[in-house]
Amino acid sequence: MKPARFAYRRAGSVGEALTWLADEAIETKILAGGQSLVPLLNMRLARPAVLVDVNPIRELSSIDADDDGLKLGALVRHTDLINSALVAERAPLLAEAVRHIGHRAIRNLGTLGGSLAHADPAAELPATLAALDGSVVVVSSYEKRTIAAEDLCVGPFLTSLHPTELLCEVHVPDQRGWGWGFAEVARRPGDFALAGVAALLRLGAGVCESVRLVAFGVGDGPVRLVWAERLLLGSAVDVESARRGGEAAAEGLPPPPSDVHASAEYRRHLVAVLTEQVLLEARARAN
Ligand code: FAD
Repeated sequence: MKPARFAYRRAGSVGEALTWLADEAIETKILAGGQSLVPLLNMRLARPAVLVDVNPIRELSSIDADDDGLKLGALVRHTDLINSALVAERAPLLAEAVRHIGHRAIRNLGTLGGSLAHADPAAELPATLAALDGSVVVVSSYEKRTIAAEDLCVGPFLTSLHPTELLCEVHVPDQRGWGWGFAEVARRPGDFALAGVAALLRLGAGVCESVRLVAFGVGDGPVRLVWAERLLLGSAVDVESARRGGEAAAEGLPPPPSDVHASAEYRRHLVAVLTEQVLLEARARAN
């Protein structure tokens, strides 16, 4: 199928893009890597009147770091995250998560901001950014605000972004000193995950001082496994406590979706197994 008619605008600056987004009466969509939006246009599941191509805006492609952590432009491609020495040093969990996205051709074009704004419940990046306690900076013609990653996805393919806002930057706190783990199960390499879990863990005096566990593919968006986190605080995160953490993660999970790819029961089982696995990985790296 071919998309419905739309007007195409090429934005040379953030200001220009915001001007086109400002009129709420005209349905306008940002075009980033196009890896999710273009199929939706072709299937006529999205029929915006205007597409604003932000790819010429060079400032949105930067990868920088300061004492607080990484500052990543929304247009940073998945491949750039994998290849960046700075990301490998400051946020290896992020680099690992991105390796699981689709295929090479998709990673070469797909962007960090696009993946976060698209808010697919099975996507790796919204969950990983929540595990990292990151945030996004969004800008409209009227204001600039920061949204915590945990507050970004509010439903399947739904975010707290206003239609007039452009996601410009992603902040990732410095992960050095933390152990991390990431695992997912997909039917074939490159498929969206049936379920996945990202973990970040800090030890103090040999026990768990702080832990963040976030699952994806098992809810309306990223699911923070807080009840399992509570259980793990103060534990050694050894084989036994990791197993109990996995069990707790699965037991406390709100009913996961059941579809042609996997039953709710199987997804719940995966959360137990994957949580246990990422906890042991994170424990080993925290050492
Ligand atoms: P686009 O497709 O250009 O845009 C997506 C949406 O976000 C649109 O609504 C757009 O308007 C909005 N948007 C984009 N940028 C901004 C911005 N800066 N501010 C505000 N709104 C914005 N993803 C995964 O996570 N895991 C996978 O395993 C995976 N597998 C895939 C397999 C295939 C075959 C394909 C085609 C895609 C797959 N993807 C997967 C999706 C891929 O990661 C996309 O790159 C990503 O979801 C969207 O990024 P994009 O830059 O292509 O955004």
